[in-house]
Amino acid sequence: MSADMIDIKAVRSDFPALNQKVYGKDLIYLDNAATTHKPLSVMDRLVDFYSTINSNVHRGSHYLSTEASIAYEGARESVRKFINAARPDEIIFTGGTTESINLAASSFGRAFVKEGDRILTTLMEHHSNIVPWQRLCGEKGAELKVIPIDDGGNLKIDEFKELITKKTKLVAFTYVSSVLGTVNPVREISRIAHENDIPVLVDGAQAPQHLPVDVRNLDCDFFAFSGHKVYAGTGIGVLYGKKRWLDAMEPYQSGGGMITSVSFESTSYEETPLKFEAGTGNIAGALGLESAIEYLNKIGIEKIAAYEKSLTEYALKKLQEVEGIRIYGSSKERCGVISFNLKGVHHHDLGTVLDKLGIAVRTGKLCAEPLMEYYGISGTVRVSFALYNTKKEVDTLIEGIEKARHVLQAG
Ligand code: PLP
Repeated sequence: MSADMIDIKAVRSDFPALNQKVYGKDLIYLDNAATTHKPLSVMDRLVDFYSTINSNVHRGSHYLSTEASIAYEGARESVRKFINAARPDEIIFTGGTTESINLAASSFGRAFVKEGDRILTTLMEHHSNIVPWQRLCGEKGAELKVIPIDDGGNLKIDEFKELITKKTKLVAFTYVSSVLGTVNPVREISRIAHENDIPVLVDGAQAPQHLPVDVRNLDCDFFAFSGHKVYAGTGIGVLYGKKRWLDAMEPYQSGGGMITSVSFESTSYEETPLKFEAGTGNIAGALGLESAIEYLNKIGIEKIAAYEKSLTEYALKKLQEVEGIRIYGSSKERCGVISFNLKGVHHHDLGTVLDKLGIAVRTGKLCAEPLMEYYGISGTVRVSFALYNTKKEVDTLIEGIEKARHVLQAG
């Protein structure tokens, strides 16, 4: 697939936030792993919802509520197709990846994890895919074990196999590392886990904006992602779960919208997905997510993947030429993200100099403290790409880094 097939000029004109100056400089936004900017169609969808069918869903019998409920379920169906789930009731709307993983840890944990059991995660996880499992293990008297990585930032699959015991209840791991850019072999990990009757949860926060996701092909049992990282708004996300697991799990939160009957003696619950969607959700956000998916589909996720691959390769090549740079992670399968440090320069200082040049990057521990500890560093600079970034922006980034290097290394 040719990477030139995206009309970048047209794409960039869809994102008003890209077209602004900061400190008098053209904004170069390279913090897309934290959150992406939004196309007009997503923003228009929110305005349209609040201007017309704004209403609660699955509650009222009036016109607006019926229309809002139809639209909301339509958005669920669009998410189903986007990740190729088998059924719409396998799609739970949440507030984002963090809430999705907390839901899974709480409800799966309550149903299936007991004292002496084991949960596996990996060294390259975001805190969102560590802390909920750590808390669950603490509450249950279970143990959290960590799959190690090699220096290139690849999971050690042989050591993963050795960590599996009869008491292992779940493997929770990221699809794409938000620090190293490593794309993990989800199918292989799922296969190994399933051979041992262990389900897998995939933290997909950094995946569907960069590569096609097919949960049936990956054969994962759970898949979590955030709307705001796939060009939709904040406060909306998804937990996909295979129906047989969701049916066997207890609700996460409880209240309105998730019950069939309540008395002071007992309560019966809706079927999935409503059983996991207590209270009023982010209805407009779900519609915005649908519009973001439509936007991605219009361009084509394969084309986006090819475009971003060539951009990332270009950036890697240019960065490697910078004197004194150390790039973390060298996996062959990577996308979207490059983290690095400059010899003798604090990551925060470099980030500050770049910021003043209008270049937005992320600095610090990147919500991955155990990984920072592994590399023996207090943090990194991270650049992360979206479909609207360009090679010209990479060139300006490199110029900025060179400027910063001269100023900061001299000082
Ligand atoms: N997992 C990964 C790999 C991430 O990169 C992030 C956010 O950066 C999260 C989880 C948490 O996502 P959110 O803050 O949208 O819940």
